[in-house]
Amino acid sequence: MVRIDGAAVFSMSAEHLPAVTVKSGETITFVTRDCYNNVKRDDTPELRSLGWDEINPATGPVYVEGAVQGDVLRIQIERIRVADSGVMVAIPGEGVLGKMVKKGVVKRIPVQDGMALFSEDIRIPCEPMIGVIGVAPPHGAIPCGEPGCHGGNMDNSRIREGATLYLPVFHEGGLLAMGDVHACMGDGEVMCSGLEIPAEVTVTVDVMKGISIKNPMMEDAESFYTIASDVDLERAIFLAVSDMAKLVMRKKNMSLEDAGMLLSAMGNLQFCQVVDPKRTVRMQLKKSVLDGFDPGMFA
Ligand code: CA
Ligand code: ZN
Repeated sequence: MVRIDGAAVFSMSAEHLPAVTVKSGETITFVTRDCYNNVKRDDTPELRSLGWDEINPATGPVYVEGAVQGDVLRIQIERIRVADSGVMVAIPGEGVLGKMVKKGVVKRIPVQDGMALFSEDIRIPCEPMIGVIGVAPPHGAIPCGEPGCHGGNMDNSRIREGATLYLPVFHEGGLLAMGDVHACMGDGEVMCSGLEIPAEVTVTVDVMKGISIKNPMMEDAESFYTIASDVDLERAIFLAVSDMAKLVMRKKNMSLEDAGMLLSAMGNLQFCQVVDPKRTVRMQLKKSVLDGFDPGMFA
């Protein structure tokens, strides 16, 4: 099995040399740093000085043989193992409550037996997830802290063990990289921090031919999801919902009106995060409606 450790990028770009080349269908373990590059930070000035280009290192990139522009990269998340402690922060100006935060605070939180020991009496069940996961974007270099059509810092709590993520391929090899694992994170990531933690993530990657997608999509045991990011939250919502409506129309041969009503009756619009340079949302629909999940529906 391929294992990548110590190779990290702070942006997603077609210019980066691959850390490793794999064949379609290979299983790879990514050793990931936390979003603060594993640097223990316990004073405010240092925290405040971190720019979007100094955080969120992503391990990789991985060149997947045979992937070319217009293909889809399928990433099955087999396992996420997290370290025995992580950090959370509150930073003035950051996140939904940032304007109320008077001074920066760093909190180190132990993780034991799958529980995060937040305080004496509060234990949070861990559901480790990947904050940053993406491919080289269509144009230029995008900091790992930013989400987009290429994936990136989506902070999507559903990107966890057992899930399968689909990313569009924009450049040869795809150039997959990931990092910013959270032992746990609430939807929205309201303070701009999950339980940030070093991890080992094992995934199986395949190239899918003959289908194209414009934005990331994913599935888990029960549901599938369209995902969209935009500086404008309303725009992100429109993109995720309209992408799901198009899937339903195609798969069930429905009018837009019917598909929209179906989504309104049983689809769930969910926040991924509302604190990064672009906001990310997902539209969830139970697989039962679409008679099982079929990647061909993206075609
Ligand atoms: Ca993140
Ligand atoms: Zn994070």
